[in-house]
Amino acid sequence: MQSRKFDAFVQALDEAVNGAERTEAAILKDAEALVRDLISVDDWLPDAYAQPHPDYYQQYCLHVCPRDTFSVVSFVWGPGQYTPVHDHTVWGVIGMLRGSETSERYVRQPDGRYTSAGVDTLHPGMTECVSPDIGDVHKVSNALDDQVSISIHVYGANIGKVERHVFVPETGEAKSFVSGYAQPQV
Ligand code: FE
Repeated sequence: MQSRKFDAFVQALDEAVNGAERTEAAILKDAEALVRDLISVDDWLPDAYAQPHPDYYQQYCLHVCPRDTFSVVSFVWGPGQYTPVHDHTVWGVIGMLRGSETSERYVRQPDGRYTSAGVDTLHPGMTECVSPDIGDVHKVSNALDDQVSISIHVYGANIGKVERHVFVPETGEAKSFVSGYAQPQV
């Protein structure tokens, strides 16, 4: 993917993530600021990475650090599409580029069930962070039922290869999954 703006973003992110003795909190702070800057103007994402699928939300890989210490993904939501309740197991920053999405946060109860801890609605320019330390379980939905929405995600690993979990919140049942990536529509 070629974009001068995106290349500068990746380079700054590489310094923020791979610098010496970086704490997760410091990485998240820097990565969130970089994502906020990247999504402040919606003029750089190639159409190939912005195409919805009629049946599934799409996860297009925009960049993976050669050391697998971070990855950048465009999530493309068709009208009405949503994820199951899931975790990430690594830090992540979500930035809304186009349209709108909702993120319903879930917390694990002592009996193992997951219950809703509230819903955040993201509009273009807004960001949200996840990690096992600050809250890692949520369900994300396209907030719009007549329009495509797109968010840009950065994760502290090659997220398409990470084994993580989807949950049945009512029972706490967990299933492992590995998301992979969608093929860009070039
Ligand atoms: Fe997520």
